[in-house]
Amino acid sequence: MRRRELLKALLAAPLAGVSWLAYAREKGMAMVEELQRNWKTFLAAGVMPPSPAEALKLSKDEWRKRLSPAAFHVLREEGTERAGSSPLDHEKREGVFACKGCDLPLFTSAMKFDSGTGWPSFFTTIPDAFDTKSDFFLIYPRTEYHCKRCGGHHGHMFKDGPQPTGLRYCNNGVALKFIPKEGKA
Ligand SMILES: [Zn+2]
Repeated sequence: MRRRELLKALLAAPLAGVSWLAYAREKGMAMVEELQRNWKTFLAAGVMPPSPAEALKLSKDEWRKRLSPAAFHVLREEGTERAGSSPLDHEKREGVFACKGCDLPLFTSAMKFDSGTGWPSFFTTIPDAFDTKSDFFLIYPRTEYHCKRCGGHHGHMFKDGPQPTGLRYCNNGVALKFIPKEGKA
């Protein structure tokens, strides 16, 4: 739906006398900003998500009790799940992807794309969802991102994503909880 709107907007662009690519990029960024602004329209009725300001701080033991071993390993020990292991990689319904640790909304379904990597991938995030830091685990620096509310590790951001953002948030599915806009999770 969103993509169709973008395509329509692009086709309506006057082709003579403007840089078509610059126009497309600007239009695309405006669409991304709109996705960020209107993320709450993807929430199911009656869901009251927490805000990043309500910090959730627990001890290691408390986290261990609250999370599955796989989610604990990713969120609290900065682990990485096996590629292709998360059913959320193929989740196509409308809704919101929230932090498994603390329920903070992180992405909407409209921010997701199929990267072919085997991990749920997103080209932008809900505003104020993450803190970032660089690490040098591989030879080149990568940007690691953490949930703003509970500090849980979610994945890494790479600069080889689709236009117009050019970003790829490569997220561990086990660290996410999908809240469909309609129907059951
Ligand atoms: Zn969290």
